[in-house]
Formats: sequence, structure tokens, C-alpha cells
Amino acid sequence: MADVLIRGGLVVDGSGAPARVGDVAVTDGRISGIGNGDSAADVVDATGLVVAPGFVDLHTHYDAQLFWDPTASPSPLHGVTTVFGGNCGFTLAPAGPDHADYLMRMMARVEGMPLAALEQGLAWDWNGFADWRSRLDGKIAVNAGFLIGHSAVRRAVMGKACHEEATAEQIVAMAQIIADACRGGALGFSTSQAPTHNDGDGDPVPSRAATRAELTSLATAVRRVEGTTVELILAGCLNGFTDDEIALMTDMSRCARRPVNWNVLGVSAMNPTGHESQLRASDVAAARGARVVALTLPHTTKIRLSFLSGFVFDGLPGWRPVMALPPEQRMRALADPETRRRLAEGASSEEAGILRGLANWGRLQLVETFAPENAAFEGKRVAEVVDARGGGDPFDVLLDIVLADELRTGLSPGGMETTAEDWKLRAEVWRDPRTVVGGSDAGAHVDMMCGAVYSTALLAHGVREHGVISLEEAIHQLTDVPARLYGLRDRGRIAEGWAADVVVFDPARVGYRQERTRADLPGGAARLYAEADGVEAVFVNGTCIVDGGGFTGATPGALLSSGRDTETAPLGS
Ligand SMILES: [Zn+2]
Repeated sequence: MADVLIRGGLVVDGSGAPARVGDVAVTDGRISGIGNGDSAADVVDATGLVVAPGFVDLHTHYDAQLFWDPTASPSPLHGVTTVFGGNCGFTLAPAGPDHADYLMRMMARVEGMPLAALEQGLAWDWNGFADWRSRLDGKIAVNAGFLIGHSAVRRAVMGKACHEEATAEQIVAMAQIIADACRGGALGFSTSQAPTHNDGDGDPVPSRAATRAELTSLATAVRRVEGTTVELILAGCLNGFTDDEIALMTDMSRCARRPVNWNVLGVSAMNPTGHESQLRASDVAAARGARVVALTLPHTTKIRLSFLSGFVFDGLPGWRPVMALPPEQRMRALADPETRRRLAEGASSEEAGILRGLANWGRLQLVETFAPENAAFEGKRVAEVVDARGGGDPFDVLLDIVLADELRTGLSPGGMETTAEDWKLRAEVWRDPRTVVGGSDAGAHVDMMCGAVYSTALLAHGVREHGVISLEEAIHQLTDVPARLYGLRDRGRIAEGWAADVVVFDPARVGYRQERTRADLPGGAARLYAEADGVEAVFVNGTCIVDGGGFTGATPGALLSSGRDTETAPLGS
């Protein structure tokens, strides 16, 4: 008799094979039968529902959150059963207590994690990467694996000199730490050369001071350990790769003898050749026996702005001094007519460049409001509120709303609508062997977005609304494809003997809800949080962690170790 029988669902096994109605039996955390009507202690009726492998999210920043939230919420609500952290060079180890202050302020700045949560939610007393990692063992709801991050390694080896060029000895020491971490279970190495990545003092993050020789040496460090990989972000990920960057990624893949993945590939019908030129990096790499893979998101990430975080607004000419004030003083300044006039002038000046579009205040959408007197405006554009009031200056109306909300009002700039052509083009890119669907950044930038919705976005928009990808292909892209890129053993498909990571969802309803503010982080800090619709049950290693849209509290997740849980992914796709 099986432990669990998921009965009568439409089984989509992740391989891309056609769906078929059947039962899935689970015994001792593994799939023990497909299609036959076994008996079980626990029977789940999946009639009319899809039964698929749990989704695999390759790019998250749940490193910190898992310590206070073992569920990695809200990702499993969206069907995710396996997450990978330690991306972009940002990890909490090996640098220990001496560097806690530096790393916390760096994470807060670069990954948008509230400082209060990092200070109060973490013990900061680990001794190296293996010790840090081991603290999650047996305590998490999802399967989780971690790369070791370049900036944390550099800080551990070089201390305050981490912004300088490393000596040959220091590079050897860093490579040793990375190799040791991989032998202790780390899944590889990550780094950032992105000009947008600055630390708490506004200086470039440590990894950005690395020479090419350092980057290739550190990539080489992972190659003796089975089932490792390399992840990075470069300036050209956003602006278009230079030949030099393509050569760097190729060299790092060759040195590591592993695939290198980068994030994140944007796809737009307005610029149909843009992504093709980025994917050329993969072709160049392949010609030299290397493998470079782009992560690509299925949906357009909606960035939320607010006068509380000040992000983006503080880039407008003359705005920084006001947005840098403590909230109380900022509110006083924003109430002052003269300050308002100056800000409005700065925002619409020539100097504002591409940010000038923001100064079209009437177009801003009020996605979340807080004060009772603002409740009626939620979901509306500022211009609609102006109309309803019979007139007024849009900037004044906006600021009055923001002040009533004590700066928390969630704002969305318009003009990011996705067209049918965009979806068609994206679907081609999802299926391209040079890409993998991912790059959610879940757990990061929590004041601006909720990246965890990428999977339900693909199913809702890509499969159901636009019909640009079949259900079987979409599931394949969310499960088997990322699992193979990281060489995950026995995960990513519904197959006999494989781990019972399973999601059960209603294909007619699956989707995501609007992000809402939740003050549930340590220290009372807030984050944006989006729930899912239609995801009925999620199993990790055979145990139910999500039931009817809520967490069960079970922690059956595996801490994924290189070699034991992964095998080396091939350099040919
Ligand atoms: Zn990242």
C-alpha cells in the first residue's frame, strides 16, 4: 500500500510527453507508481486537476529568508518545490561574524532585503560556508541548494581591502575556499560584474574588483567536484554583451567545465533582434566547446515604486536630498508647496532623461493604498482621481494620497503592457535550447516586486490566455529543463523511483494575485507578497507542504548537496 495516492488527475510528467489521466502513487518520499489504481493511506482526489512535477527555480535569493521562514514563501504557493540561492555573488558565508555588518548592508542595498530583517532574523555566528549551510538541514519545507558567492568569499579573504585587486596568494586562498565549500555541498560559484551592484557604502560590490584571471581561476575551482555549476551577472546582461564579455563567459565555462548561466534575458516584440544578439553568446561558447545559458522570465516584472523606499524617484534631478530624509521629515518636505514645485520642476526637466516619463503623474497607478480615505482610489490612475475630484494638479493629488498613506502607497508606472506579439516571441524563446525559464530573484527586492509569481504567470498567460505554449511544454520548461541544467538527480519529472516533488493545480484557474504589503519579516519589516490561485496541493519528497493555498507547516525539504543530489550537467545542450 502506498503512503499517498493522487487519484484521477491529468498527469503531465515534465518530459514534454502528452498528458494522460491517471493516478500517481507515493511511497517513502518517492513516486512508486503511475497510472494504476493502488490503494493508499492518504488519497487525494485530483479529478479535473493537473498533476505535475514541482517547479524548479534556479535563481532566488532565499539565503537569508529560509532562516526565519522555512517555507520560502510565497514560492511554493506558486508550485515551486526546489529553490537555488547564493546567486550573483551574494551569500551570507563564508565571511563570518566580523563581516556581518558589511554583508548585511550590502545585501540590503543590492538585493533589497530590509536591514532590520537581516539583523534580527540571522544569528551571524557561523564558521564558514559548510557550517552556515548545515543549519538549514532538516528544517526547510522546500528542497534548497546554494552556490557560494564571490563577494562574500572576497570579503572573507581580503577583509576591508576587498575593493582592491587581489594578489596571486589571495586568489589561491579564494579558490581553496570555493573548492572546499563545493566538497562540503555547495553547488558551484556565483559572481557579479554588474555596474548596478553597489554595497551599503555605495562602493562597487567586492566581486566587481576581480580581474579576468581571478574570475577564471575561481571558476576552475568548481571543476573537481561533481554536480557543480557557475552563475553570473555582467554589465552586458542588460545592455548587450561585448565580445569581451562573451569571451569571458566562454572561458569561465571552459575552465569550470560546467555550463554558465546568466540573468536575465529580456524579450520584446518592439526589439525583436535584441534577444537574438544576446543569445549569440551561447553560439560562440558552443563553438568553443563551452556552454552559456540565458535565464528568461515568462512575464514582465512589475516594479512597484513608493515614496517610502524612494527607489527610482531618487534618480530624478533634485530629488535625492528629499528622498534621503528620514520618513517623518520627508513627509513634512512633501507637504511643503515650495518643495513640491521644485520636485515637479526637476522631474520634468530635460536632465531627467528616460525617467522623465514618470513626471506624467496622472498615468501612475495606485496599486495599493493604506489610509481609509484612500481606499476608493486603489487600482485607479492618478488622473482618474483628479477627474473624480473635479480637477486639481495631478502631482498635488498624488502627494496628498501618498502623505495620507504615510508614504507607503504602492505605485506602478504605466506603459508596460504586454502585447500578443510579445507573448508569441517569448514562447519561441522559452523553447530555445539556449535559454531556461527562470530568474525570479524571489526573496530579493521585496519592497519593489514579488518574483515568485513567474511560474503561475507562465501557466496563466502563456498557456491559458495566449495559448502560445502547450501545457506539456510549459511544465517541461518549469521542471525538467532547469533540473537538467543543474544536474539534479531524480527530480524534475514524474517518473517511477524519482523524488515525489509534485504540484496539483487547476488549469482553468491557475494564476497569481496582486502583490500586497505584508509586515511579517523579523523586526516588523515589510515585503511584497503575492498569493496564487488554483494551486491546490504541493508535495515535497512525498509530504504535503501546501494544501488548499496555505502552508501545512511540514518541513520535508532536502538540503541539496553537490555530487550526492546533483551530477555534472553536459556542456552540450
Ligand atoms: Zn540575483
